[in-house]
Amino acid sequence: MYSYNGVLLIKIFFSAGVYNMIDLRSDTVTKPSQAMREAMCRAEVGDDIMGEDPTVNRLEEFSADLLGFEAALFVNSGTQGNFLSVLAHCNRGEEVIAGKESHLIKWEAGGTAVLGGVCATPIDFELDGTLDLKKIKGSIKPDDQHFAITKLLALENTQGGKVLPLSYLEQASHLVKEHRLKMHLDGARIFNAAVFLNCPVKEIARFFDSVTFCLSKGLGAPAGSIICGNKDFIAKARRLRKMIGGSMRQSGIIAAGGLFALEHHVARLKEDHENASYLAQGLSQIKSLHGKVESHTNMVFVEVGAMGGRLAEFLYSKGIKIWAKETLRLVTHLDVSRKDMDRVIAAFQEFYSLLA
Ligand SMILES: *Cc1c(COP(=O)(O)O)cnc(C)c1O
Repeated sequence: MYSYNGVLLIKIFFSAGVYNMIDLRSDTVTKPSQAMREAMCRAEVGDDIMGEDPTVNRLEEFSADLLGFEAALFVNSGTQGNFLSVLAHCNRGEEVIAGKESHLIKWEAGGTAVLGGVCATPIDFELDGTLDLKKIKGSIKPDDQHFAITKLLALENTQGGKVLPLSYLEQASHLVKEHRLKMHLDGARIFNAAVFLNCPVKEIARFFDSVTFCLSKGLGAPAGSIICGNKDFIAKARRLRKMIGGSMRQSGIIAAGGLFALEHHVARLKEDHENASYLAQGLSQIKSLHGKVESHTNMVFVEVGAMGGRLAEFLYSKGIKIWAKETLRLVTHLDVSRKDMDRVIAAFQEFYSLLA
């Protein structure tokens, strides 16, 4: 089934455009649409380090308004956004509390510790993507020479596709105020959360001192993220961005893709959520797939155990890209359709019927 000739033939099929590749590895894989490219092409630009790029300025103002903050900063990536936010909140020897599996702690190469001297106290996420308030409280250090100074709590929303309840955010914000901490949101997918809750994104953002979100995930822009906060915080983040070489000149060309995404691609995230639940529904009908299937916003999780590697290889032969894992994470986005979901379900069915 995996003969060399077979692979070759499949490659010829793809190059002939017989079918499109369906890439479910992440919502970062989307490519800018023709309309987005045209908006980027037409963008008015200037030197952003001199504050003179009108498109970057517009994107920053638009984002700050949308999330209900005084100011915003366009940055290279979500990783950079989190990094600058933590460093703008915390000095060396201070500490951030965050989820053990969070992007900030696990997936950013330890940047805040390595480059910023900021310690992290990781806490396990609960099943619903929240951090237990009692565990947070228990991690806040008293003023004692033995300890780093607790300064910041960082949450993630969505967390593994899960949307944090607004009531939880409110409780967390009370807790941090009580202890004079700041609260940051890694809102890489905050718009998925807002669309899921059917509320303005402000309703989520209002509990936080700072929020980062990605333009380059479900929103479909090629690159860039935004940090929102008050004026002083953003001024600090801007200086730090310069320090790490993250400031750019005529970056309006990229910012235009971000603006286009915020104007056209927010409401449609609902389609991604619907495609994810449709896919989960289809996969859960497969009798010999015994593992759990769940969907949260635009992500589907499928327990396939040791079968992951063979399954990924098989799906690839059908023009479907996934990461080979014991629990698959399949992500829907702008560049996959309902029809593609049918093709994915059919390919899973075929794989499991061949096994039986
Ligand atoms: C992707 C992601 C980031 C980082 O974004 P990059 O632009 O890839 O650096 C941060 N946090 C979360 C939760 C993410 O999913």
